[in-house]
Amino acid sequence: MAFATLGLAPKLLQAVTDAGFTQPTAVQVEAIPLALAGHDLLVSSQTGSGKTAAFMLPCLQRLMAAGPSRLPRVLVLTPTRELAQQVAKATADFAGKRGPHIAVLVGGAPYAVQLKQLRGPLDIVVATPGRLMDHLQRGKLDLSGIQTLVLDEADRMLDMGFIDDIEAIAARLPAARQTLLFSATLEGVVGKLASRMTRDARRIEIARTPEAAPKIEQKLLFADGHDHKLRLLDHLLSDIELKQAVVFTATKAGAEDLADRLEDQGHAVEALHGDMNQGARNRALRALREGRARILVATDVAARGLDVPGISHVVNFDLPMQAEDYVHRIGRTGRAGREGQAYTLAHHREQGKVRGIERYTGIAIPVTTLPGLEPKARAAKPAIGRKAGDTKKRFGKPGQGKSYGDSRTGNPGTRRSRPSW
Ligand code: AMP
Repeated sequence: MAFATLGLAPKLLQAVTDAGFTQPTAVQVEAIPLALAGHDLLVSSQTGSGKTAAFMLPCLQRLMAAGPSRLPRVLVLTPTRELAQQVAKATADFAGKRGPHIAVLVGGAPYAVQLKQLRGPLDIVVATPGRLMDHLQRGKLDLSGIQTLVLDEADRMLDMGFIDDIEAIAARLPAARQTLLFSATLEGVVGKLASRMTRDARRIEIARTPEAAPKIEQKLLFADGHDHKLRLLDHLLSDIELKQAVVFTATKAGAEDLADRLEDQGHAVEALHGDMNQGARNRALRALREGRARILVATDVAARGLDVPGISHVVNFDLPMQAEDYVHRIGRTGRAGREGQAYTLAHHREQGKVRGIERYTGIAIPVTTLPGLEPKARAAKPAIGRKAGDTKKRFGKPGQGKSYGDSRTGNPGTRRSRPSW
C-alpha cells in the first residue's frame, strides 16, 4: 500500500516523502481515507504506531482546502505537555514553512507566550485539557469554529482525571464537528466517553504489528538490592552498542540521585521529572535530542510522547507503578522501525509485579544475568511459563491484557486504581 492511494493532496504526499516515510503504517492506511471522508473515528492503536500522521494529515488537508479563517478549526487534546509538543512539531514538519498557525497550550509553560499565540491568527490548537480550560475560563479562546476535535491517548487522559475538563471543553465545540479519538483501548470508560463524543463513528482496531510493537528485545535482571542494581546499571551503560538510554526510576528524588551519581561518574546525563519547570524539561530533552546527553534519567513523566531516534536502550531501574507504564517506557526505544533493548531490574520480592507486567503484555520477559554480577539470592518461584530465551510466550491476546488495577477491581471498564504493588 502506498501513501498515494489514501487520497492525500500532492503537497502532503511530498511532506510524507520528505519525512522519510515510504509506506503508510496500518493505522494510517485505515484512518486517513475515513478521516478525509469526514467520518468520526474511534481508533485503538499503540504508541509508536504512526497515529499522529493518521489524524494530522487529514486535518491539514481540510485546512488547506478551506482557506483562511478567523478562528481555530482543529483542536488536539493530549494527556501530557511532551506529547502536545511532539504533535505540534510533527504538524509543523508536515505542513512546511508557510503552514497553519499552531498554538501549544500546556501546563507548566508561561502564560505570556500562549496568550500572544492566542491573539494572533490561529488554525490549530494542541493542548492539555487543564491549561486549555484555564484559557477558556479567562475568555481568551473561542472554540466555536472547531471543525475537528482529536482526542489523542484518550485512555491516558481519563487515567489522569481529565474527564470533567474534556466534557467541559467538548460542550464549547460546535455539535456538527468531526471527532477522532485515539486510545490504547476502546473499552470501559473510554468507550463511554467515545459514545458521548462521537456520532456514527467508524471503529478501527489495529492489532499490535511489528511496526506498532517495534523490535525491542526485553530482558529481566534480578538484583539482590540497590547496590547490586547500581552495579548492573554501570555495566549496562558501559555497553558500546548503547547510543542513548532512558533510565526510569520510581521517584523524582530517585531520578535526581541517580542522575547526580552518573554525572559524577562522567556520564553525559540529564534528569527529567515532574518537579522540574517546563524550561528545565525542555533543556533536558533538547540535550538528548541534540546528542549532548547520552543518558536521560526520568520518572514516568517521560514515558509518553518522548520520541528520540537515538534511544537504543531503556533501563527500568525501578519497576513502573502500573503494568501499562511498562509498555510506554520500553516504547521509548525501537522508534520508527529501529531495534531497541529494554532491561528491567527487579528485586526478587518484586516477582508479583513482574508477573503483572507479563500478563498485561502477554509476553514473558526472559531472565538474564551479567557475567560476574549474578544475583546471590535465587528467585523463589519462576514467573509463570517462563523459559530462558522464551521471548514470544504469550499469556493472552496482545494489547488486551489488564493492569493490576483492573484485575483487582474485576472490572476492566473502571478507571484504573493504583495497584498496591
Ligand atoms: P506516532 O505513533 O505518531 O508517535 O509515530 C511514531 C514514530 O513513527 C514517529 O517517529 C513518526 O515519525 C514515525 N512514523 C510515522 N508514520 C510513519 C511511516 N509511515 N513510516 C515511517 N515512520 C513513520
